[in-house]
Amino acid sequence: MTEFKNFSLKEIIAMIQSGKTTQKEVYEYFLTRIKNLDPQLEAFNLIHETASEQDVHSPLAGVPIGVKDVFSEIGIKTTAASKMLASYKPPYDATIISCLKEAGFSSIGKLNMDEFAMGGSGENSAMRITRNPWDTERIPGGSSSGSASAVASGMVPAALGTDTGGSIRQPASMCGIVGFKSTYGRNSRKGVISMASSLDTPGTFTKTVEDAAFLYEIMAGYDAGDSMSLQEPTAINPAIWDKKDLKWIKIGIPKEYFIEGIEKGVQKEIDGAINTLRELGAEIKDVSLPHTEYGLAVYYIVMPAEVSTNLSRYDGIRFGHTHGGGADIAMSRSEGFGKEAQRRIMLGSFVLSSGFYDAYYRRASLVRELIKDDFKKAFEEVDIIITPTAPSVAWKIGEKVDDPLKMYLSDIFTVNGSLAWLPGLSLPVGYTLPEDGGIRELPVGLQILGPLLGEEKVFEVAYVLQQNLKENINEKKPQIF
Ligand code: GLN
Repeated sequence: MTEFKNFSLKEIIAMIQSGKTTQKEVYEYFLTRIKNLDPQLEAFNLIHETASEQDVHSPLAGVPIGVKDVFSEIGIKTTAASKMLASYKPPYDATIISCLKEAGFSSIGKLNMDEFAMGGSGENSAMRITRNPWDTERIPGGSSSGSASAVASGMVPAALGTDTGGSIRQPASMCGIVGFKSTYGRNSRKGVISMASSLDTPGTFTKTVEDAAFLYEIMAGYDAGDSMSLQEPTAINPAIWDKKDLKWIKIGIPKEYFIEGIEKGVQKEIDGAINTLRELGAEIKDVSLPHTEYGLAVYYIVMPAEVSTNLSRYDGIRFGHTHGGGADIAMSRSEGFGKEAQRRIMLGSFVLSSGFYDAYYRRASLVRELIKDDFKKAFEEVDIIITPTAPSVAWKIGEKVDDPLKMYLSDIFTVNGSLAWLPGLSLPVGYTLPEDGGIRELPVGLQILGPLLGEEKVFEVAYVLQQNLKENINEKKPQIF
């Protein structure tokens, strides 16, 4: 039997289209894997036992894809991993789901996440704690915990995720796969349960950069249903897949990102990737993003402000879990929301409250503009900016749950790109032992950021680098695979 887990999405599609295998065989293969592995990994909130049959010659040819439990699919339970929405069945498809359906999409199930996408470890899910296939004692990263775990373990060839401050890039880094978020506004937010509206960006988890670009081209584009949707064309020039080197590409390394507190093993793998980029002909330049240090503070003001506004609709009357007859809204909300959601609602309500709005939300929004300007200036000098995706490899389940500040610090390299709306990709570039005495080597991700609308350059650099790292990356397999 063909082990489809070893193939990319595009390879499996080609096998179906050339008649080497059938849609049914592929679906059953992945369904069996899910049944065998998911009891250990707990990545899925919902599994579809039967495939929806698709046209074999459609772009996706019915190959199963996993869906983060935050994308509305008509009639299919979509919970955002919250008790608030435990029985919610959306009456319509998210625009991205419609685009994928037109392309022959077959959903194999809903993937676990931090509640309402708030978190960096997956442990804020009200449903279950998803595990990292490289070491099942560890978190897979969050908030798209199930998506990353499912792709890394070969339970699905690709999965959808969302990234508000790093929720695709970080779990991709911790699970050793490719995580991609587009420029904000390229991928429609319509039908994606909102977290922080000025930051939410849908994207994907895949094994290869080509698969990420392939899905991006299906998903991206103007949508009148998203008020921030961009009109610019999204096509990727196929000539980038013929590139063998990175001559003429200028890559910036922001000096503010190489801080104390990065694990030594992570730094070593990132340095190795920088060397490979140099060998491939790229010009490596130092750049400065002087307002970097304010990024986390700005993010943790702007984001909760928007969270508190978005989550106010769940009052147990119009939407969400109802306590008793619904008269006691406070009770409905305290039963429906988990601890982290409640923390952010309170923080957000505070920074928006009269008397504090100017001191917090307004000031943070102004500093956000400075962060955007930093990137704009840096991208006048370089084509691409690289940083580590996260300061550490995956940590042990339970290690940071009681210390929100520690948890927020792991977002240090991803939030600035989100505040500036940039496209970003995390590429696995190596493995290292964790500093906590763990005995299993864990993946390290390199973050590749492009300028606004610069998806093509991100894919090009990531692709050429992945081709040149491939052997070493392919040798290692997760504990659960
Ligand atoms: N870890 C970040 C947070 O908790 C990012 C979440 C996300 O991107 N959805 O806010």
